[in-house]
Amino acid sequence: MNNLAFATIKELRTKLDNKEISPKELVQFFSKRFADHDGNILSALEIFETDSIMGASQQNGILHGIPGLIKDNISQKDRGLTCASKILEGFTAAYDATAIARLKQEGALLMGRANMDEFAMGSSGETSAYQKSKNPWDVSRVPGGSSSGSAAAVAAGFVPWALGTSTGGSVRQPASFCNLVGLKPTYGLISRYGIVAYGSSLDQIGVMTRTVYDNALVLSAIAGHDPKDSSSLTVEKNDYTQSLTGKIPNGLRIGIVENTLYAQGVEAEIVSAVETTVKVLEGLGAKTSRLKLPALDYSAATYFIISRAEAASNLARFDGVRYGVRNKKAGTLNDMYCNTRHDGFGAEVKTRILIGNYVLSAGYADAYYEKAKIVQRMMTKEFLDAYKEVDLLIMPTAPCPAFKFGAFDADKLQLDLQDYFTCAANLTGVPAISIPCGMTASGLPIGFQLYGPHLSEELMLQVAYAYEQQTPWHTMYANV
Ligand code: GLN
Repeated sequence: MNNLAFATIKELRTKLDNKEISPKELVQFFSKRFADHDGNILSALEIFETDSIMGASQQNGILHGIPGLIKDNISQKDRGLTCASKILEGFTAAYDATAIARLKQEGALLMGRANMDEFAMGSSGETSAYQKSKNPWDVSRVPGGSSSGSAAAVAAGFVPWALGTSTGGSVRQPASFCNLVGLKPTYGLISRYGIVAYGSSLDQIGVMTRTVYDNALVLSAIAGHDPKDSSSLTVEKNDYTQSLTGKIPNGLRIGIVENTLYAQGVEAEIVSAVETTVKVLEGLGAKTSRLKLPALDYSAATYFIISRAEAASNLARFDGVRYGVRNKKAGTLNDMYCNTRHDGFGAEVKTRILIGNYVLSAGYADAYYEKAKIVQRMMTKEFLDAYKEVDLLIMPTAPCPAFKFGAFDADKLQLDLQDYFTCAANLTGVPAISIPCGMTASGLPIGFQLYGPHLSEELMLQVAYAYEQQTPWHTMYANV
């Protein structure tokens, strides 16, 4: 049965169309995968009951009968929604996020809620208030974060696809740690209606799959304008699988971003896997050049400030009055706010709220928040200038492969540097994708990133697909 566990969406579609298996049997099969193995991987916070999964979706559409898992910061009507935080324990979503409504319309079967870093704050999955998801490739290591459960479930063959969210890298970094394709689309391409805001100007839903085709297919189901999200772009629905020909456009120019690949601290095996990738792309006909994007060196610091500022503002709504848990200890209204937030939020979330309020406070906003916004604008200009010379950029996804639990406990700053290569896409709003490109000597997955200009998803996926067809990585599975 393992070939069903690791079947792609495309393969499952054929089996469903040939009536080799029914949608309900698939849900039962994957529910059993969770029941048998998730005690070890801890990817899901909840798997729904089969009939309620079946009853929630249409019985046709481009994802008809295809099970998937949803990060627990995306609203699914009448289901729990916790953001892996104690403060939302027992909270039920009142409506579907637009992406969820579209998935249901396209017939996708939504199996449950994926674990994550609390409120999507983290790079390892370790800040979840409930459990620490493990990396199916090596359970002594993290799956990456903050979409830790989404990545772990797809890599473990519990579902063929999952949704994550990315504010600074939470789809691409876990994808690279788990041998998955992870896409962070252009800001505004997928509606944010119904996702719990972390950094609203940076947040995007992203798709995690084992192949590029599957990623393009799920994107096709959820992308496109939504009047319910004021930052949604006026983009029509599109079939992103159309451009996947196995070839790249004639004369495609790819820029290798030297100050990422040769940044201090990037492990040698990552550098060599990305350099090998460059050769494969050249073999496909790409014209490569090497360039530097100096503003990128400030991206992690800029992200640090802007994301905390927005988080502090967004998380002010969790006060015990409107959502989730209310602390019942006697006292004044102010005590109730304080006790609720004290008991409800974990340490990482509290730290970020404090930093966010600090960088926004009178007297400090000029020095920190305003300055970060200026650097963000410089960075955007630098990227847009680069896209006058090249069509796509290539860089590593993360400086290292999946690390051990607790590896950065003594040095949290190193953990924040996980976002070094990814957060620039969120800060500038451009799309970026992480694609498997190798294995370390000890058998851990490595990923590389393509960055493109705004709304270049079609081109990025086309190139990613052509690359994937030349390489064996997408055919390798964790042993679960
Ligand atoms: N690792 C980053 C952070 O901790 C990214 C999180 C995200 O993209 N949600 O903020």
